[in-house]
Amino acid sequence: MFQLNLSDTFNKALPADTDTSNSRRQVYEACYSFVEPKKPTDPKLLHVSQEMLEAIGLNKDDVETPDFLKIFSGAEVYPQTSSYAMCYGGHQFGHWAGQLGDGRAINLMEVVHEGQRWALQLKGAGPTPYSRRADGLAVLRSSIREHLCSEAMYHLGIPTTRSLSLMLSGDQVLRDVMYNGNAAYEKGAIVCRVAPSFVRFGNLQIFASRNDKKTLQELTDYTIEHFFPEVEGEGADRYLSFFNAVVDRSVEMVVHWQRVGFVHGVMNTDNMSILGLTIDYGPYGWLEGYDPDWTPNTTDRREARYRFGNQPSVLLWNLFQLANTLFPLIESAAPLEAALERYKQKYLLLYGEMMRSKLGLLKREKEDLALIESLENSLQLTETDMTIFFRLLSEVKKKETAEEMLDHLSAAFYQIEEVKGSVKEQWLAWFNVYRSRLHLEQRSDEERSVEMKRVNPKYVLRNYMAQLAIDAADEGDYTIIEELYQLLKQPYAEQSTSEKWFAKRPEWARHKVGCSMLSCSS
Ligand code: AMP
Ligand code: MG
Repeated sequence: MFQLNLSDTFNKALPADTDTSNSRRQVYEACYSFVEPKKPTDPKLLHVSQEMLEAIGLNKDDVETPDFLKIFSGAEVYPQTSSYAMCYGGHQFGHWAGQLGDGRAINLMEVVHEGQRWALQLKGAGPTPYSRRADGLAVLRSSIREHLCSEAMYHLGIPTTRSLSLMLSGDQVLRDVMYNGNAAYEKGAIVCRVAPSFVRFGNLQIFASRNDKKTLQELTDYTIEHFFPEVEGEGADRYLSFFNAVVDRSVEMVVHWQRVGFVHGVMNTDNMSILGLTIDYGPYGWLEGYDPDWTPNTTDRREARYRFGNQPSVLLWNLFQLANTLFPLIESAAPLEAALERYKQKYLLLYGEMMRSKLGLLKREKEDLALIESLENSLQLTETDMTIFFRLLSEVKKKETAEEMLDHLSAAFYQIEEVKGSVKEQWLAWFNVYRSRLHLEQRSDEERSVEMKRVNPKYVLRNYMAQLAIDAADEGDYTIIEELYQLLKQPYAEQSTSEKWFAKRPEWARHKVGCSMLSCSS
């Protein structure tokens, strides 16, 4: 067996469910239930993240061993460990949903390598006490999406859970992709997710909802002790400091999402990591045409609660729920309200800084906010690719005219023939202001370009790219998974052999299921 430096804490320090049967039930006064993964029929390893492998202290040779296949497909449990599913609740689409929990995620163990703690968790490894009416399994398409996007987000510099491995289980899984009565069998798959901790807002919420202050406090203390070194004070002050720290980490995460055009798709409180990590890659998507009202999640099309432009407000709503959850430990509303107020200020500040960096503006001018706002409006005049726009903007030169700058950006427009008349005028007006604003900067074009390319990625996991990898994988061809994985390891670099991925979404993908339309079915 390959050697991992085991260091379990969650299932040692915190109260366990006393029932060890794998039956679906409400679990009280416990943070988790012991449960073993379902044995897969015929596991097959499809892909491994090299960085993640090294991060937990393993190497390429370990991957080749039969043990690797067994442990990370759930066929066997690693010696001296006890696997478990976590108990949590959550607000789904604005409504309290009661107990949810790890319905198809099974935590294997925690390891410490080079001073970093990692919890390893299989997703799609079979039913648990929290599976409710579902099967505990995951399909290949959603597993490819989770595996690739976790690693891509990491390389974009965005706080995220990671993914070690992607396996086929060899089992068939029944899914109705668009919830329209067309259920069909798909290939089952298992991803090994990795994060310092998988605790979510919902892990704390469930205890507050049941007036179980004792367990709420135990889990909060555990979380602070292991993952929040910045938290200070005693008693209520300590919990308040914790809440403020969660606010800070979460706001940074969402500002990153807005920077790269990432739409999570299901920002329910059970999908909010307490560590401020992007977690639960379901019907997420990337903006192609810049559209604040866009959501990839068809389940949420009508209300579009989780649309791109609403993510910062939803985070505030979620933080408000967390404030309510922690109230019994703090017993004073005013400082929690102040923390939420601070969130609003902080978001605006960070968003402004982030947009300035995307525009290559180092100085702070009070007109910058107007410049940013008018850009956001201009980007919606006609379908304009967000990623390509900002990347190409990194290349304009101060001495160019507004007309030349707009010309340089032409590849970002889906219908260039629409950029005429008043649309064109509005763009030229914007570029004229931008141009004069650039003249207030000291940096050379080259310096500015280098810095802008560090925040404006060239390559993101466009919805259709993931779908190409999925379609090929369905046919047994896993090469696109590896190609995209390699490409997205350097999203900010020019990669001359990969120019084909620096392109607008092709027309065939505009309304295709899996590309522009994703459901929660996974
Ligand atoms: P999600 O919408 O994926 O965040 O999931 C919401 C809840 O449903 C979580 O408690 C999941 O564990 C659970 N869940 C989702 N899919 C399944 C499944 N196939 N089997 C069991 N539980 C599931
Ligand atoms: Mg979830």
